[in-house]
Amino acid sequence: MNMAETDNLAAGLRGELKRSEPMARHVSWRAGGAARTAYFPADLDDLIAFLRSLPAGEPVHMTGLGSNLLVRDGGLRGTVIFTHRALREIRLDHLGALGGGVYAEAGVACPKVARYAALNELVGAEFLAGIPGTVGGALAMNAGCYGGETWDIVAHVLTVDRTGKKRARTREDYEIDYRSVVLRGHEIPPSPPLLKGGEVSPSPPLLKGGVRGDLEEWFVAASFRLKRGSGAASRGKITELLKRRIATQPLGEPNAGSVFRNPQGDYAARLIEACGLKGRVMGDAMISDKHANFIVNRGGASAADIEALILLAEQSVKEKFGITLEREVRIVGEA
Ligand SMILES: Cc1cc2nc3c(=O)[nH]c(=O)nc-3n(C[C@H](O)[C@H](O)[C@H](O)COP(=O)(O)OP(=O)(O)OC[C@H]3O[C@@H](n4cnc5c(N)ncnc54)[C@H](O)[C@@H]3O)c2cc1C
Repeated sequence: MNMAETDNLAAGLRGELKRSEPMARHVSWRAGGAARTAYFPADLDDLIAFLRSLPAGEPVHMTGLGSNLLVRDGGLRGTVIFTHRALREIRLDHLGALGGGVYAEAGVACPKVARYAALNELVGAEFLAGIPGTVGGALAMNAGCYGGETWDIVAHVLTVDRTGKKRARTREDYEIDYRSVVLRGHEIPPSPPLLKGGEVSPSPPLLKGGVRGDLEEWFVAASFRLKRGSGAASRGKITELLKRRIATQPLGEPNAGSVFRNPQGDYAARLIEACGLKGRVMGDAMISDKHANFIVNRGGASAADIEALILLAEQSVKEKFGITLEREVRIVGEA
């Protein structure tokens, strides 16, 4: 019996507990350090039991598919909880006066919601087909593309806190903005600055918002309110959207989508490109030569390589245009 199994049995849990789990396996950048503890719950009840079993003060990082996440090379203190193996239920939902919809647990992949809706002649979730994360991550980020945003179609969400208390919440409970979701009344702590050789890197102007993993309440499900319509037309829209992505994004190499939010009235990619940074390399990380708001891992990039390029882009755009880029990707852990 290994250490993980012993830990689990002692706590009476049914999920899988791992120590020193390399996060490069779990984030789309395929880079970065290890999580001190990782937990893969068996289902929602098991997740709740696990949260209740944690010592007070243990940092918790709820994680979906890691498609917007960078863990620094020194690793992550605390416990990462993965939703994608456990919270997988998806079904039709009857929202009473609100009409029809889809209920999906937090670990369901966004493209699955888009396809499931189309299959059931429900329209309005097509944009989710292009977002390679989970429902939980999309709720936390207010993920969106091509004119659609996650919270535009949310009827209500289900959350859980550290004590295991479940709550049904609606949009009115949150301040929702572009790639930003803040539970009203919650302060958002900034990302820790990068410490290197005794120097503190200029701390980015983080973060306008976001339900960060270290808040004490997490998404476990959402009901999406969708309109009745043509499933065939919806599937056509999804195909079109995916074609556009393949044409414009460097999907062949590990990346985390857009690194920066677009500033009001402009595009982060345009600004970075205008600084001459397309193709700029740091170790094995590169500012994509296809889309300047993407950083790709050409094989063996470290989180430090990626973060160095992020800082370079921020500094260059600030110097040339006086614009402060805001990060869309979440950076956690120790350098
Ligand atoms: C190729 C590519 C294209 C992309 N295109 C887009 C795009 O068009 N539009 C867009 O918006 N994004 C895009 N992204 C970014 C990313 O897919 C989204 O931000 C996505 O919503 C993240 O989901 P995730 O499950 O991977 O979250 P993760 O990366 O695992 O986590 C992201 C944040 O959400 C928090 N979180 C995760 N699950 C929960 C939960 N259950 N409860 C509370 N907090 C949680 C985490 O703590 C973390 O802070 C793209 C990424 C890639 C790699």
